[in-house]
Amino acid sequence: MGVEAAHQSKQVTATVTSNLELMPGHHLICVEAPSIVAKARPGQFITVRCGGTLILRRPLSIHKSIDSKYLYLLFKIVGKGTTWLSQRQRGERLDLIGPLGKGFSIEPASQKLLLAAGGIGIAPLFFLAQKALGEGKSVKLLLGARTNEGLYPQKDLPRGIEAIITTEDGSEGTKGKLTDVLPKYADWADQIYACGPIGMYKTIADQRQQWQVNKPVQVSLEVRMGCGIGACFGCSIKTKNGMKQVCHDGPVFDLDEVILEEIKI
Ligand SMILES: Cc1cc2nc3c(=O)[nH]c(=O)nc-3n(C[C@H](O)[C@H](O)[C@H](O)COP(=O)(O)OP(=O)(O)OC[C@H]3O[C@@H](n4cnc5c(N)ncnc54)[C@H](O)[C@@H]3O)c2cc1C
Repeated sequence: MGVEAAHQSKQVTATVTSNLELMPGHHLICVEAPSIVAKARPGQFITVRCGGTLILRRPLSIHKSIDSKYLYLLFKIVGKGTTWLSQRQRGERLDLIGPLGKGFSIEPASQKLLLAAGGIGIAPLFFLAQKALGEGKSVKLLLGARTNEGLYPQKDLPRGIEAIITTEDGSEGTKGKLTDVLPKYADWADQIYACGPIGMYKTIADQRQQWQVNKPVQVSLEVRMGCGIGACFGCSIKTKNGMKQVCHDGPVFDLDEVILEEIKI
């Protein structure tokens, strides 16, 4: 299938139903997109056209879905595209493509899942938590941010999740990085899932060598992307299993497979 045809088969015009600033500089936008919600799996993403046709589409993780109809995206305002998106109003229409990529996988035998969300890394992990809790799994969430202003509101987390908070300035929870407390919970977990900066993954990779049992860790890679469907090779990365495209083979990878030093954002 060509790029245009592949795009068209997953292209949706979705109406914005709400758009609110959930934390300073972070927006939660909800759109009505039942065809995406019907197929979406945790860890997958959509691309959204932000403004005119000249700007590349921007990839955003599927944050959560409600009522088989509403798709939520959580994003941090960092540049032109996300600023544009933060200004969209209820009733406006967005051009989306998705769901795209390969998401997180849960082994059927795994009962205890540890999720590590660094800052905006909560974006895809929320949907994973929703699914895992729905399947009766136990979920602990390590939620880390620089200050309490960057913390996802705990009252909005899925019911039944156990959240462990860290802030670098100590304004809430344990003072430090989430990787400081991660070793304490790693032995409990059957599987570990992480989304955050590359430095966080490097720390986890180093820590794993000390763990009693080498638990499987899946990470989501948020590199710069072009087409989002594996056609332009703009997001290719070198892995231990050869070259991979983050948009098509990922964005979720086993930490063991990734060569973290090779990843440039
Ligand atoms: C699969 C995937 C899922 C993503 N999910 C989310 C999400 O759920 N929520 C969210 O807030 N962001 C997410 N991102 C990152 C998001 O796509 C970028 O922040 C966004 O494209 C920036 O667009 P912009 O036009 O606002 O900024 P630009 O003007 O393009 O860039 C502004 C600044 O942001 C940096 N930047 C640009 N792209 C990225 C990127 N991919 N990762 C990190 N920094 C970047 C640039 O280096 C620059 O410093 C995801 C990225 C990928 C690849």
